[in-house]
Amino acid sequence: MNKREALRNLPAVHRVLNHAACAPLLGAYPHQVVAMAIGDEIDRLRVASTHYENHDIDDGVWLNQVSPESILTNVGQRLKQRFTPSLRNVLNLTGVIVHTNLGRAPLSKRSVEAVCMAASSYSNLEFNLLDGKRGSRHGHVEERICRLTGAEAALVVNNNAAAVLLVFHEMAKGGEAIVSRGQLVEIGGSFRIPDVMEASGVTLVEVGTTNKTKLADYQRAMNENTKLVVRVHTSNYRIVGFTEETPLNELVNLAHANDFPVYEDLGSGALFDFEAVGIGDEKTVRRSIDAEVDVVSFSGDKLLGGPQAGIVVGRKAWIDRMKKNPLVRALRPDKMTLAALEATLIEYELEQQKYRIPVVRMLTESEEALQARGSQIFERLQVEKVSFAPLTFCLVVDDARVGGGALPLTSLATTGMAVSAEGCQPDHLLLLMRTVPNVPIVGRIVNDKVVLNFRTLMLDEESTFIESLEQCAAFLRRIVC
Ligand SMILES: *Cc1c(COP(=O)(O)O)cnc(C)c1O
Repeated sequence: MNKREALRNLPAVHRVLNHAACAPLLGAYPHQVVAMAIGDEIDRLRVASTHYENHDIDDGVWLNQVSPESILTNVGQRLKQRFTPSLRNVLNLTGVIVHTNLGRAPLSKRSVEAVCMAASSYSNLEFNLLDGKRGSRHGHVEERICRLTGAEAALVVNNNAAAVLLVFHEMAKGGEAIVSRGQLVEIGGSFRIPDVMEASGVTLVEVGTTNKTKLADYQRAMNENTKLVVRVHTSNYRIVGFTEETPLNELVNLAHANDFPVYEDLGSGALFDFEAVGIGDEKTVRRSIDAEVDVVSFSGDKLLGGPQAGIVVGRKAWIDRMKKNPLVRALRPDKMTLAALEATLIEYELEQQKYRIPVVRMLTESEEALQARGSQIFERLQVEKVSFAPLTFCLVVDDARVGGGALPLTSLATTGMAVSAEGCQPDHLLLLMRTVPNVPIVGRIVNDKVVLNFRTLMLDEESTFIESLEQCAAFLRRIVC
């Protein structure tokens, strides 16, 4: 068969469209979309036929490829891919608990149910069921946040970056805000405290040096233009060695003695006292409120383990002013966020159930418990060894991290699993794990080996994880690395 003859065998689009095997596709996708996909597939075959130029085509193979059935099989795959959402779930085996690139905090079951409720029906988002009048969307969570933090009032916005913007805008616009040079943080994604201050019309007054800021440094900077004293939690780094940070209570006393309010950007903002159970040195939000800080802000999806949100707490007079700030309308949280946040706060209020919040559970899970989980998974892999060849596994001790710019110096000993395959480079193996058809596995390379850390694997994801590994192995058996 020459090229001309090969091309003659290509069917017309309408013939493929009218073929009986096309019916299921037409039932699932718009007619126009199916027709276009068939056209694309025929175009691809037309290009392919040119490769046969000056070669003898294996007639049987070609006729099979251009059959409507074969074309429709490929079209089905194309359409499936096109209509698969780009945003999908992955298995986090990096050991980084609050992984910003992987969506930070997975929600608790209660929280997920609340999101579904808010998303799938009408709700009393801004409606008072008692008097039938307009209510406030902020009312649903305010009291809970106050009970959990000891604050007089609270306000929720889209994220903590929005909270920082709002606080500066309300508390220091047109004036000066004093910040220690040791706290001029870049949080990542080019979000820098000095830039946010500028965007909110505040003049930044830096005091002290990178490693030392004394009370007298703050005192010297105070003048008639001063509006706010700021303390930023250096969440994602620590200055160690020859350092001095003004103690919070001294700073608050000084500011209040001069009639200036104090704002603390806590970054993560823990409601659970991790330090009390021996994990890291993060102070709770309540501690800042107890220290009489006027306004505190923190994230909803870092150590708190809830949805993306920025939570502002503190003196009622300030929060009331912020509620009336026009920026609030632009920064307000969505109903699904509020539903998820409220459910997460309920877990905290129910004391024992805070461990149902995945971030809290992952952070506090004991090394022994993780070792048991690791061994169990390892056993399952050994029992069905053939399904996983050529992958080989070995249990290792690995470090997990908090991530999300929280507790940068805290590492949690965790059982992990080193995975390798004869002749396959670790970066290639990682790529294969990320591109399995089912649920991608995200791991990392430690000492030139792929290591999968079990601390961040959700409890109900173990079977999915094993399936994904199996798919990776099956692929490896078909190709050479
Ligand atoms: C993470 C962080 C922010 C930003 O919080 P988002 O919720 O990510 O917007 C602001 N300040 C500090 C100190 C942080 O650590």
